[in-house]
Amino acid sequence: MDKLIMDQALIWQNVLGKISDEYPTSQVKMWFSNLNLLTIEDNCAWLSCDNGFKKDFLEKRYLVRFVQLFSESLGRPIEVKFKVDPQHKSKKSNDTADFGPLFPFEAIHVAEATQDKASLHSAYTFENFIVGHSNNVAYAAAQAIAKNPGATYNPLFIYGGVGVGKTHLMQAIGNTIIKNFPNKKILYFPTEKFTNDFIEALTSKRIKEFREKYRKADVLLADDIQFLGGREGTQEEFFHTFNELHMSGRQIVLSSDRKPQDIAKLEDRLSSRFLGGLAVDIGQPDFEMRVAILKEKAQKRSLHLTDEVCNLIATLVISNTRELEGVLTKIASYAQAQNQIVDQSLVQKVLGHQATKPKTHIASGKELLSCVATYFGLKISDLSGPKRNKQLVLPRQIAMYLLRHELSMPLIKIGQLLGSRDHTTVMYGVDRVEGLLGTSDELNKNLLLIKQQLTYYD
Ligand code: ADP
Ligand code: MG
Repeated sequence: MDKLIMDQALIWQNVLGKISDEYPTSQVKMWFSNLNLLTIEDNCAWLSCDNGFKKDFLEKRYLVRFVQLFSESLGRPIEVKFKVDPQHKSKKSNDTADFGPLFPFEAIHVAEATQDKASLHSAYTFENFIVGHSNNVAYAAAQAIAKNPGATYNPLFIYGGVGVGKTHLMQAIGNTIIKNFPNKKILYFPTEKFTNDFIEALTSKRIKEFREKYRKADVLLADDIQFLGGREGTQEEFFHTFNELHMSGRQIVLSSDRKPQDIAKLEDRLSSRFLGGLAVDIGQPDFEMRVAILKEKAQKRSLHLTDEVCNLIATLVISNTRELEGVLTKIASYAQAQNQIVDQSLVQKVLGHQATKPKTHIASGKELLSCVATYFGLKISDLSGPKRNKQLVLPRQIAMYLLRHELSMPLIKIGQLLGSRDHTTVMYGVDRVEGLLGTSDELNKNLLLIKQQLTYYD
């Protein structure tokens, strides 16, 4: 179908489906369940939500990703704006965690449709995956598996930082197998979904259905397996699922942001199973690959970039593919808004202050807490304890902020780590630190020094 005449509802389904797959269910439920597309007009997509607080948070946290996804979907730069819609029906409840159904009415179809297709997105293919030094081994292994599932490396364990292409590669495996072996049952899921499904099955006494669903798969693609860390019951269940599939020669592919040995609180029996096949890492793209990625992604958007401009962006942005995509969208939107061609001076203007650095890898949340506690002359138990004196509150909120931003830890998990605090408390804490970033030199200095400490764990 021509992209330009693609129905807006379809575009929204596509965008919502993609973004929902990228975040833990808890976040999806909280932020996207009541979100609707009002219209796309004059290259601007208007989204409506039910209150001002949500609007602010959505703008701060998810705007860039929505811009990318809409621009990708429509094949041209699209601005995204949020609006509070007074007609939105708010479902009041005493429980703050209850934010209504997982998806708004029309989007239920997305969930069903993608479920039918094993939760795979057709946009992720081998054909549009750019190969370079940092990912060629992972790519070759993924292709071997897609050609011959269950017969080569089993399991395949892919690990690497955020945005380097793990999900893309796993989905490409799934999409290729579906094409070549239409009878094989493929199941892709972010590991948080497995955990949530399991808890749901336990509480609603539907464990049999749960097991049927997961143990029936011919190809199991478990994304972001690091979320099993510290969840003993789920680990036990996953262990049995894994064994059953593995013993009958069915293909398992796992991804994680770190090696199994580095996942805190992961049982040894699981980590050794995970390493029983082939483990491959994907690193940050090198310069040549960054240039190749920029060229490919620009071409897809019909954006003309000269070699000099590509080289300049690839020099300034030394991070992962997701950030490169974000930067490209930003440049394209800026060029369009100013009605300028993309040249070196425009790139300098847009990227002037934000040449990004690769993120530090930290071994575990505990170590981060210990770092923050030591820095402020406190104990971990002070941070996770119930006291709320002034000397404790800000360090605790700084810990929340760092867990969120440096470890991409889900809010619920941060709450658990800090003495079973509610996720809304965590959200408030993270927000407060974010709010102070622009105004408090003291805070910026503290954050910088703590982050320097964290590199010891590299
Ligand atoms: P991860 O799962 O490792 O966090 P993703 O697979 O979600 O990363 O990749 C982030 C974005 O970058 C996606 O839009 C993906 O399509 C794109 N991407 C990552 N690596 C590549 C690559 N080698 N070639 C093309 N696109 C890529
Ligand atoms: Mg991913």
